[in-house]
Amino acid sequence: MRNFALALLGAAAFAFPASAQQQQQPVPGFVQASNPPATQPQVAPISVAQQRTVERLQAAALESDHAYEIVESLVTEVGARLAGSEAEARARDWAAAMLRANGFTNVRIEPFTLPYWDATREEARIVSPGIERPMVAAALGGSPSTPEGGLTAQIVRFADMAALEAAPNSAVAGRIVFIDEHMSAAQDGSGYGVAVRKRGLCAPVAQAKGAAACLIRAVGTDTHRFAHQGGSSRQAQGASLPAMSVSPADADVLANLVASGRAVRVRLDIRADIRETAQSGNVIAEIRGRERPDEIVLLAAHLDSWDMGQGAVDDGAGVAIITAAARLIREMPRRPRRTIRILLAGAEENGVHGGAAYGRAHANEAANHVVALESDFGAGRVWRFDTQFAEPALPYARAFQRALLPLGVLPGPNQADGGADVSAMRALGVPVVDLSQDGTNYFDYHHTPNDTLYAIDRGDLRQNVAAWATFVYLAADSDWSFRAPPAP
Ligand SMILES: [Zn+2]
Repeated sequence: MRNFALALLGAAAFAFPASAQQQQQPVPGFVQASNPPATQPQVAPISVAQQRTVERLQAAALESDHAYEIVESLVTEVGARLAGSEAEARARDWAAAMLRANGFTNVRIEPFTLPYWDATREEARIVSPGIERPMVAAALGGSPSTPEGGLTAQIVRFADMAALEAAPNSAVAGRIVFIDEHMSAAQDGSGYGVAVRKRGLCAPVAQAKGAAACLIRAVGTDTHRFAHQGGSSRQAQGASLPAMSVSPADADVLANLVASGRAVRVRLDIRADIRETAQSGNVIAEIRGRERPDEIVLLAAHLDSWDMGQGAVDDGAGVAIITAAARLIREMPRRPRRTIRILLAGAEENGVHGGAAYGRAHANEAANHVVALESDFGAGRVWRFDTQFAEPALPYARAFQRALLPLGVLPGPNQADGGADVSAMRALGVPVVDLSQDGTNYFDYHHTPNDTLYAIDRGDLRQNVAAWATFVYLAADSDWSFRAPPAP
């Protein structure tokens, strides 16, 4: 965050669209500080022609609602699309047709199978004390069914995952474990990593201590009466405990009843449709490079979604942003030197099966992947650009940072994650970047019935497309390498 104040000044100084003077000058040095360091960090040069192209791309992106139209079409034509479902199959067909209509080449579907899970009933009730009443609840991905008629037991409350881990088996055995941990909102979404731990680990840890089931305060930052859906790592941990989340308001009631000192009994009723294999597929499309077609800049998003909402922000927005950005680049008079490849992963939410399938299918061309990035953090504005480059490639990172400044994007650290759907390629040594989106409100909508088009701001979506077009064009129209040079 060292450059925070400087970058803000820089962003303000770069009025948009860029002035004629800026267009004619060679690319200036890094953002000037009032107390400049003894040595200026090196910035890789961008040609005047490339700088003009970047400005044109940004101007076009900021005037276009193409991305909004794409996500609107996905929501209208398909809607929610659980991985491996009939709806996800229709989403694949929609995507292939949409990508062809936008003029991309090599549009194809790469099939794979995955374990299927869908909750056909997900109900939770407070049985006692007082009158019996329903809660708003969601089964967590992978949860088994409860016995016919539901599972009723007394709850035992824990303030967080660590408290459950520290509890003796005698406090947990036969009970429904209730983890009441709150999640905090943050621009970088950092509260999610902490909160998601309880979603992934509640079932295996509770089961090891002899619990009957697992209930968590929903992983979200809203105060709406929705229970956030989400996957759990229970299968990987060998657990088979029913698991649900409840809305914040219902979690409050449970906490108050427990605090009153009375025994609180709850009934969970889950019907799960579980199949060992279902069909999914990754949808791929390309803009072939004009000089170096074997070198690939990989743009990812995922097609599947949870099924209570419309899958508009997660991840219809990502599908729309990367497609609209690539389409703007395709419309330029000259294709970039390298190939731009779009990966719309068929299954991310319940175990990143699409990204893993891409990694298996394309491991042999991992060395040809120049860089990979994903849009899967909703529809908030891009506020920071992070890289995961080898040290000698950092002047390139600074060149991207400077090109993104007019969009209000701050320089970030060299610790990018890349995103779940490119994690298999990252593990194979592919450099990654993050066009980090503002996640302050993302977890209000994430995995809830409120994940709809209403959660998307058209202006924010346009800014995302501008940032993606900027990075992708410069990466694809260069011969830059972000890897460490081979040892002599
Ligand atoms: Zn997602």
